[in-house]
Amino acid sequence: MTDVSIECVQGDIANQPDIDAIVNAANARLMPGSGVAGAIHSAAGPGLAEECRKLAPIEPGQAVISGAHDLPNRHVIHCLGPVYGEDEPSDQLLADCYRNALSLADAEGLESIAFPAISTGVFGYPLEEATRVAVSVIREAGPGLAHVQRVRLVAFSEKDLEAFRSALGQ
Ligand code: ADP
Repeated sequence: MTDVSIECVQGDIANQPDIDAIVNAANARLMPGSGVAGAIHSAAGPGLAEECRKLAPIEPGQAVISGAHDLPNRHVIHCLGPVYGEDEPSDQLLADCYRNALSLADAEGLESIAFPAISTGVFGYPLEEATRVAVSVIREAGPGLAHVQRVRLVAFSEKDLEAFRSALGQ
């Protein structure tokens, strides 16, 4: 049992060199796309898509782990967030993403993990609600984790950072 610290920063999820695992807001086929998946695949190089082919497809709420290829991290954890208003119950499926990603990182013995705001881009999940789900799941899961000690929430814009801060009560 560890005391998990949660921090938030504004930045690019594909540029978090001091973190063991970064989380991809993936599509079901785990292929490069727009937003987070585009940034991660272009920084990781074609080897990531190659490896992902064997892990796909995944379901909403599911998470799978791969190598990080040319990224400066040890692993990428790919989560398929719910499409808001379509994959229901979306709050539970979004919570599953965070919970499953944390379990995979912990099972791998990793100490740090960084998340983008899963589902809040093309999948349309309202940002404030999504950040509240993220923070409450991480706080709930923290005491049950053996290895993960540090969770970073990576906000793309200033506005996203404000939402993360407010969900953290900062
Ligand atoms: P989803 O399909 O799960 O909605 P997106 O990749 O479209 O995923 O977006 C998820 C969130 O990540 C959005 O808030 C978006 O602004 C943000 N985002 C986009 N690119 C990056 C990046 N390079 N690093 C961190 N966050 C990003």
